[in-house]
Amino acid sequence: MKHVAIIGAGPAGLAAAEMLSQHGLRVTVFDRMASPARKFLMAGRGGLNLTHSEALETFLPRYGARASDLARYIEVHPPVEVVAWAEGLGQETFVGTSGRIFPKAMKASPLLRAWLRRLNALGVEIKLHQTWQGWSENAQPLISDNGETPVAFACDATILALGGASWPRLGSDGSWRAILQSEGIAVTPFTPSNCGLLIDWSEHLKSRFAGEPLKRVGVTFEGETQRGEAVVTRNGLEGGVVYALSSTISERTQGGSWVVISLDLKPDEPHEVIANRLRRPRGKDSVSNWLRKCLKLAPTAIGILREAQRDLPHDPDDLARLIKALPLTVKGTCGLDRAISTAGGVAFDGLNDKLMLKARPGTFVAGEMLDWDAPTGGYLLQATLATGLAAAHGVMQYLGE
Ligand SMILES: Cc1cc2nc3c(=O)[nH]c(=O)nc-3n(C[C@H](O)[C@H](O)[C@H](O)COP(=O)(O)OP(=O)(O)OC[C@H]3O[C@@H](n4cnc5c(N)ncnc54)[C@H](O)[C@@H]3O)c2cc1C
Repeated sequence: MKHVAIIGAGPAGLAAAEMLSQHGLRVTVFDRMASPARKFLMAGRGGLNLTHSEALETFLPRYGARASDLARYIEVHPPVEVVAWAEGLGQETFVGTSGRIFPKAMKASPLLRAWLRRLNALGVEIKLHQTWQGWSENAQPLISDNGETPVAFACDATILALGGASWPRLGSDGSWRAILQSEGIAVTPFTPSNCGLLIDWSEHLKSRFAGEPLKRVGVTFEGETQRGEAVVTRNGLEGGVVYALSSTISERTQGGSWVVISLDLKPDEPHEVIANRLRRPRGKDSVSNWLRKCLKLAPTAIGILREAQRDLPHDPDDLARLIKALPLTVKGTCGLDRAISTAGGVAFDGLNDKLMLKARPGTFVAGEMLDWDAPTGGYLLQATLATGLAAAHGVMQYLGE
């Protein structure tokens, strides 16, 4: 029986393990951490957005410059397959208002438990506290058990599914980059993607509003506007609406420059409607109460408005303009340690269309360690799972199975 080593027990590695074991191959999965799929579990904290319901014509362009590289894998393993897979593991899914698809449980742990049970039943062996450190002289993966001297693991093919470099404490720290580069394999530099914005809030704002959501806001930067939800943090803003702009903001703030974003606190109402409401007499209400009553502005939105401009304009038109386009100075974006995903990774040029490294026949690459990126919305897990399955196909073809 042919034996495949998979390094990395995240969703890409586990998807590959499932397919290979279902086709009768012997599979051993190695991971450096004490338990599998830590980042997948972390993704579950935000509800585990598995994929998206939009048509592939709209879905694929979300991968920007890498859309054509990924299309062949996602077309073979499309979103409907991810949904069927999750439901097959007992996790009913639903389509949220934005078209995103989640498990009804809104977390990853029940799905992961059922998945690991299935893998166990298929005979997949998962070895923890095992770190991959490169290749032996006879091209076998070198594995170090708990920091011991690495030894070659005898197998017929290897899949590397080592993840990106964000949230390194969850296991994927990108340290594989140096090993691959020393073999002459091109790795595009890592940059944080889908990350929060750094804003110098006052102590008052931090203590009152950190952790509070800003529901339904618009954020504009360099002519691009995103609408959605943000969350105020002690360091700035997090959430889908800012993640979508974070790549451009990250580029513009390289080298310490600051930029200004424009926050629309009432994106669904035109300027005139807001200005007219602000013409109502304030009476004895405090400014905050009046804004809350006549515009239904949430306390967090009012807090940010007053933080950005302590003395609010008296003229209703000027105030409406400020509410529709509140300038906020951004000092940068959160680093890789807090980013949702990593842009950069193993360049597609160094791989054949089965995801095998041209420089290392018999070694395949899958998941977030490949050089692609996408916004949040389920696109990250979709491409991760699809490339994991594609690498498994590649291994079977390579081994003639
Ligand atoms: C806070 C957060 C929320 C997210 N939410 C979502 C979401 O809702 N929807 C979505 O689509 N995506 C989400 N993501 C992104 C998604 O979790 C990742 O894209 C996905 O986990 C990538 O899977 P992977 O298998 O490629 O890598 P990983 O999940 O990173 O797994 C890689 C594994 O390799 C192991 N490893 C690394 N190096 C070595 C080594 N040298 N030796 C042995 N083992 C090693 C690591 O320990 C790790 O277990 C989120 C990410 C974060 C951080």
